[in-house]
Amino acid sequence: MTATRASGTNAVRYGTMRENVLGLTVVLADGRIIRTGGRARKSAAGYDLTRLMIGSEGTLGVITEIQLRLYGIPEAVSAAVCSFETLDGAVNTVITTIQMGIPVARIELLDEVQMDAINKYAEFDYPVLPTLFFEFHGSERGVQEQAETVGEITAEYGGGAFRWATLQEERSKLWQARHDAYYAALALRPGAKGWATDVCVPISRLAECISETKQEIEVSGLLAPIVGHVGDGNFHVCFILDPDDKAEMARSQEINDRMVLRALAMGGTCTGEHGIGYGKMDFLTAEHGEAVSVMRQVKQALDPDNIMNPGKVLRV
Ligand SMILES: Cc1cc2nc3c(=O)[nH]c(=O)nc-3n(C[C@H](O)[C@H](O)[C@H](O)COP(=O)(O)OP(=O)(O)OC[C@H]3O[C@@H](n4cnc5c(N)ncnc54)[C@H](O)[C@@H]3O)c2cc1C
Repeated sequence: MTATRASGTNAVRYGTMRENVLGLTVVLADGRIIRTGGRARKSAAGYDLTRLMIGSEGTLGVITEIQLRLYGIPEAVSAAVCSFETLDGAVNTVITTIQMGIPVARIELLDEVQMDAINKYAEFDYPVLPTLFFEFHGSERGVQEQAETVGEITAEYGGGAFRWATLQEERSKLWQARHDAYYAALALRPGAKGWATDVCVPISRLAECISETKQEIEVSGLLAPIVGHVGDGNFHVCFILDPDDKAEMARSQEINDRMVLRALAMGGTCTGEHGIGYGKMDFLTAEHGEAVSVMRQVKQALDPDNIMNPGKVLRV
């Protein structure tokens, strides 16, 4: 997770690996072992090598130890599910919630295709509609207050009543279903493979970016549920496809390419979580321009023989 600057459903409140890794031990290409960062809450000492390593996808060194920030377990935790008549209604609820500064711990979007998959896979009976999963953390009173305010926002955007999960087991079942989204989607088309991709945009452009992407998926006839860590402006499209079907692959690739260019045009990024790997190298250049040549210089300085994950992230 450190190597890919990953994050999970809690990132909207607690941040990604970027915010939560304080220090690292890294083995460099020449065999030196360095320690970066430290336990101090803040530091103004020199270049931030911790941040350089986070998200470097194994191209600059091998991470062997990680110092992580910890959080207290909240006094009260409550989860709720809310269905919407329209995808725009769900996304606009998220935008307003975040823009009002309500400290939700999780706010996840599942489109109606994904809800259908989850109902079948986990034996739920949720409406097959665009849906938000929420989780609130805080004191008993704080959680109640957050839930009430978000309830008012959802009503304004055409959301239905909240279905609550306050007991630990109910919450676990709910979030397990969310975490199994990929397998649930695969089960919609036995024998098919999943190709997951993601982008992240400024929250104010999220509704536009998701709805334009969704329209293209619908027109294409492809099976591709959308799941979003929408509180961060990040969403995933998972193409459920037959990789041997060249036409299907090409249509999926086209939609992915257009989605990434759309996100970049909106001031977003070609990947919020999954990283560059091999598949998004051209988009890295489209996103960062000349800065990629500086990344290449860093790579060459730390790994002159190109032995650390050669061929990934940057063409050297
Ligand atoms: C269906 C699906 C859902 C996903 N959901 C999420 C999500 O919710 N959030 C998210 O952030 N990502 C998500 N991802 C992307 C990916 O799984 C994550 O980025 C994850 O962090 C990869 O971790 P891994 O342990 O599987 O690493 P790997 O895939 O094994 O490695 C990832 C990269 O890091 C490098 N690496 C591994 N270990 C080290 C090390 N010790 N030191 C240096 N480099 C190293 C590898 O060489 C590789 O380039 C998803 C992917 C899929 C397919």
